[in-house]
Amino acid sequence: MAMNLEVRGISFRYGSITALDGVDLTVDAGEIVSIVGPNGSGKTTLLKCIDNILRPKSGVALIMGNDINKLSLKEISKTIGYVPQTSVRTIFPFTVFDLVLMGRKPYISWEVSKRDRRIVAETLDFLGISELAMRYVSELSGGEQQKVLLARALAQEPRVLLMDEPTSNLDIKHQLEVLSITKQMVKEKSLAVVMAIHDLNLACRFSDRIAMLKRGKLFAVGTPEEVLTEANIKEVYEVEVKVFKDDGRGYPYIVPLSAA
Ligand code: ADP
Repeated sequence: MAMNLEVRGISFRYGSITALDGVDLTVDAGEIVSIVGPNGSGKTTLLKCIDNILRPKSGVALIMGNDINKLSLKEISKTIGYVPQTSVRTIFPFTVFDLVLMGRKPYISWEVSKRDRRIVAETLDFLGISELAMRYVSELSGGEQQKVLLARALAQEPRVLLMDEPTSNLDIKHQLEVLSITKQMVKEKSLAVVMAIHDLNLACRFSDRIAMLKRGKLFAVGTPEEVLTEANIKEVYEVEVKVFKDDGRGYPYIVPLSAA
């Protein structure tokens, strides 16, 4: 399988705080890799280093084999889509169509083409939100806004999609919906997805692999079954959990018991 993203030995410091310490990670086309770990373990910093928002002290991120530091901003935005966290108070004074059209910015040379408009319309259709096209983003629910942000990133036609807590402000139905759509999209478009996510059960259910961070270091990486063990969760989160093995669901289930 093609390797879309490779992170090699990335370290990053904010002043004297080491946020990432020699992190390695590869993500193939068609794969969802979730980044888990407690608050402050480096998840957001890792996404920002991959997106070239932060420049690592050492190490590199390679996108389709190219060092991201050597790509132009335009090339970066054609290959990497970033889906930010939504907050209920997010103010976007744009219609859904216009916000998603902004995803086409790296492709628009002079004026918006028919092709740009067609891609936006197709993306809205793909996410099942065509009927929202002329609504103001600021007037939508959190779940709808999250889909719009996903649509904007998809309209970029990226190879790698970075998602920062895509479910944090959503109710359980919309959490499942956004992650199911993401999964379908990843398979259909052969994207590589790196997703920071807090909910370990959702991570289990929707990820091909999980990377677990502890204080900026990669503590474990592998399938959900391999990584989300009672011992690893206790060591990294300082919480006692019971992990119920896969009994036909296709993924294990984690129930918190108490802080260790
Ligand atoms: P996570 O996303 O897992 O919660 P972060 O990547 O946000 O973790 O943070 C990793 C570490 O870097 C934490 O110790 C945090 O306090 C620190 N940190 C994050 N952002 C900044 C910043 N802008 N300035 C200083 N320290 C920061």
